[in-house]
Amino acid sequence: MIFWTELINKVKRLSLNFPDEREIEYREFYYVRSYKTTRFAYLILSLLYAFFGYLDSVVAQQYFDLFITIRIVIVALLLSVFAYSYSRNFRYHWQTLILITYFLGAVGIILMLVRMPEVVVYSSGLILVFLAGSVLIKLRFLAFSIASWLVIILYIIAGFIFQVDYNIVLSNSFFFIGAIIIGMIAAYRTEVFNRSIFDLYLQIAKKNAQIEQANRNLEEKVEVRTKLLNDRNRELNDEVKHRAIVEKELIAAKERAEESDKLKSAFLANMSHEIRTPMNGILGFAHLLHEAESEEEFTEFVNTIIKSGEHLLNLINDIIDLSKIEAGILKIEESKFELNRLTEEIYDMFSVNKHIVERNIQFSYKDGLPDDNCLILTDRVRLKQILINVVNNACKYTDHGSIEFCYKIEEDNLIFVVKDTGIGIPEDAQKHIFDRFMQATNGKTSGRESTGLGLSITKTYLHLMGGNISVKSEVNVGSEFTFVLPHIFETQKT
Ligand code: ADP
Repeated sequence: MIFWTELINKVKRLSLNFPDEREIEYREFYYVRSYKTTRFAYLILSLLYAFFGYLDSVVAQQYFDLFITIRIVIVALLLSVFAYSYSRNFRYHWQTLILITYFLGAVGIILMLVRMPEVVVYSSGLILVFLAGSVLIKLRFLAFSIASWLVIILYIIAGFIFQVDYNIVLSNSFFFIGAIIIGMIAAYRTEVFNRSIFDLYLQIAKKNAQIEQANRNLEEKVEVRTKLLNDRNRELNDEVKHRAIVEKELIAAKERAEESDKLKSAFLANMSHEIRTPMNGILGFAHLLHEAESEEEFTEFVNTIIKSGEHLLNLINDIIDLSKIEAGILKIEESKFELNRLTEEIYDMFSVNKHIVERNIQFSYKDGLPDDNCLILTDRVRLKQILINVVNNACKYTDHGSIEFCYKIEEDNLIFVVKDTGIGIPEDAQKHIFDRFMQATNGKTSGRESTGLGLSITKTYLHLMGGNISVKSEVNVGSEFTFVLPHIFETQKT
């Protein structure tokens, strides 16, 4: 038992097979590298096998028919293998087919050799067959060795059967064995060499796979890094943009601060001028009181002092309002009240206005809500101030015609319109009249008490209350101021 196992192991080692799955791959590898050479070898060998038939006609005329038949059969076999080598299935049977044809090719020559033992041509032919079997047709080492030794045995048996001179059989056998041994060494070396090449090939493939993997890893890393860099780049770009915006804002803030500084200086200069004028009036006429020559003159001086005092008071009120706005302490205090009562108060206040009465200006108003249902929610004090400012302007800048004011409700919004047929405002001045100390200088404002603060305060109040104001005006035709206050019916305000 042990003997057989050892023998099998030895034969296995002789087969040179890889002990693992590499063997399957190697066979494929060997086929791919060899099948073209094998195909070429079969073509050449079949030609040689056929052409040597010529020698038969020279040296073995008495057996020519037999020999030529053998040659035709073998050549047909060789050509069949050549043709089959183009088939896809060749890879599965090629070693078996090579082994059989090699063996039969040799048997054919042996048949000729035992018939014509004294002719050296046929023993040389058999040596040629050994040569082709060991290197040319790509038969593997073990198959070549077994087949070749079988051929020798067959030759010796055939020698006996055909009663060939044993000296010739012996001397030929020596040559044949020599050729087989040389062929075996060549086949062995070739197969070992091929297998080591295959091993190297496997190692290279493995290394290649490792390199590819490393490459892939590297690419992944590069990709991750690139992504990180791109993200960082984007962040930096955003940061740069953000800084540019901040810088712009800072510059704008600086410009605003400088502008506001200039405005404050101008405001102070204006104020001192505006305050000095009525103050001069008050003091000047107060001094003149002593020198009044008549009762009438005295009353006139007192009236001028009162008028200047009122103007001063108005101015101071405006200044106080403005400083409150500037300091941010002006608060909007909402309460529910009847809007029609407020419009009534405004009407009563201005219907006795001296300017209106003296110039016989038609003064009227119209409510947008019924008297018994005109409750709204907003800052009454500020709304009254706004109305006074706008209606007062209409009175100030209207010398004839009419003044009317009204309100309407549209989707919870309160819309006030104050319309007059006064001097009007030039188009280019219209956008500036809401700025501080801006007066529309069309020459006709002279003689009218004017500070250029009223509309600016009005606009700020409206903004604080969430509304806005606009004007439509035409010089010498009249003006129409419209202001909107939103959500005046809301019961709760945030
Ligand atoms: P003030 O009336 O004290 O000058 P305002 O800020 O109230 O200041 O008005 C700014 C300017 O707008 C006025 O100087 C005047 O030129 C112009 N203005 C305002 N209301 C009218 C109006 N109803 N008709 C013509 N001009 C007006």
